[in-house]
Amino acid sequence: MRCSPRFLPQRCARIFPQLCYSSISFPEALKRGGAVGRLKLFSTHVLFEEPRRRLEEHFDVEYWRGNERPPRPEVLKRVAGMDALVCLLTEKVDRELLDAAGPKLRIVANVAVGFDNIDVPACTERGIAVTNTPGVLDETTADFTWTLLLGVARRLVEGDRLARSGEWLQWNFDLLCGTDVWGKTLGIIGLGRIGRAVARRAQGFRMPVIYHSRTRASAEIEKELNAEYRTQDEVLLQADFLSLHVPLNEKTRGLIGRAELARMKRTAFLINTTRGPVVQEAALVEALDQGVIAGAALDVFEREPLISDGLRRDNVVLAPHLGSASVETRTRMAMIAVENAIAFFAGQRPPTILNPEVLRRK
Ligand code: NAP
Repeated sequence: MRCSPRFLPQRCARIFPQLCYSSISFPEALKRGGAVGRLKLFSTHVLFEEPRRRLEEHFDVEYWRGNERPPRPEVLKRVAGMDALVCLLTEKVDRELLDAAGPKLRIVANVAVGFDNIDVPACTERGIAVTNTPGVLDETTADFTWTLLLGVARRLVEGDRLARSGEWLQWNFDLLCGTDVWGKTLGIIGLGRIGRAVARRAQGFRMPVIYHSRTRASAEIEKELNAEYRTQDEVLLQADFLSLHVPLNEKTRGLIGRAELARMKRTAFLINTTRGPVVQEAALVEALDQGVIAGAALDVFEREPLISDGLRRDNVVLAPHLGSASVETRTRMAMIAVENAIAFFAGQRPPTILNPEVLRRK
C-alpha cells in the first residue's frame, strides 16, 4: 500500500518518492511512539548542520562530540536505553552492542553504503531495522577512484613532494615520467552503483572497460558503459588498471591475494576504494616488493587506520578512506540516515532499509 503523502516526512518524499510506501499501519506507528513523546537517539557523530537540525526536530539526540571516533566503552555506555542509533562505518554493531543498547533500540541507521560493520542478522533477530545510504555517494566515490588512478599513474604525489621540497631545479626530459591512462584497459570487479559510475568516466579517457561481477549487467548497461563482461581471471589478466567495487562480505574477504595478483600484468595498477580486507595486504606488499604489479592506489586498508609499512613507497598512493568525503555527499548521506530514522518511527518504510522483514513481523 502506498502511504498517504501527508504521513511522509517531507524531505523523504522528495528524495525517495518512488520508495515511500509503508507496511506498518499508522496506529502501529503511534504505538511505537512516533507521534507521542520524544524518542532518544544516539548519534556517534555530530554530522553537519542540516541533518543535525532535522534530527533534533524529531528526537532527543545525544551526540558523541569528540574529535576522534568514540572509544568502544563510550559507545556501549551511551547507546544504553536509546530508541535509535545513527552510526558510522567505524562503529561495530554486533551482539555486544545490541545487548548494551537494550530492548528499546529499534533502528540502526548507518551513515555509509557498506554495512560490513553491522551484524544485520543479529539486528533482524531482535526486530531492529538496519539502514544504509546507497545511491548518493556513487559519483563522489567514483571521482575519488579516478583521483587515485590518475594520481598513481602520473606520479602526482611524488611530483607534489618534489615541487614543495625546493629541490626541483629544472624541467627535465625524463623527470617523473609515469604511465598513460588514456586508451588503456580498465578492469572493474563489482559492477554495482559505484563500479558503473567509475566505468562511465572511462569513456572520456577512451578506455575500453572489462568487468566481472556476481550478476552480469543488462545489455543496455553494457552498451551504455561500453563495458564487456569477462571472467574474473580474464579481468585480472587483461586490465591495465584494476578497480575493486565489491562489498565486503565473507565471499569477498581476501578476494585479491597472491594468486590473483600474480595473474595481473607487471605493468598494471591496483586501485582499491571499496574495503581494505577485500585485498590481502601482505600479499600486495609482497607483489609490490617483487615487481609483480607496477603500483597501487589505496583508499582503504585491511586493518584501518593501520597501514602496512610495505605500502609506504613511491609507486603506491595512499589516502585515509576519503572516497565519499565531500561536504555535499556527506550531507546527503547523513540526511538519508536521519530520514530513515524519522520514517521508521512515523510508521513508514525507511527508504533504504536492509532488512525489511522486521517491518512485516510487527
Ligand atoms: P553495490 O551497488 O551493491 O555494488 C556491488 C557490486 O558488487 C554488485 O554489482 C554486486 O553484484 C557485486 N558483487 C558482490 N559480490 C561479488 C563477488 N563476490 N564477485 C563479484 N562481484 C560481486 O554497492 P556500491 O554502492 O557500488 O558500493 C560498493 C562498496 O563500495 C560498498 O560496499 C562499500 O564497501 C564501498 N564504498 C567505499 C567508499 C569509500 O569511502 N572508499 C565509499 C562508498 C562505498 P550483485 O549485482 O549480484 O549484487
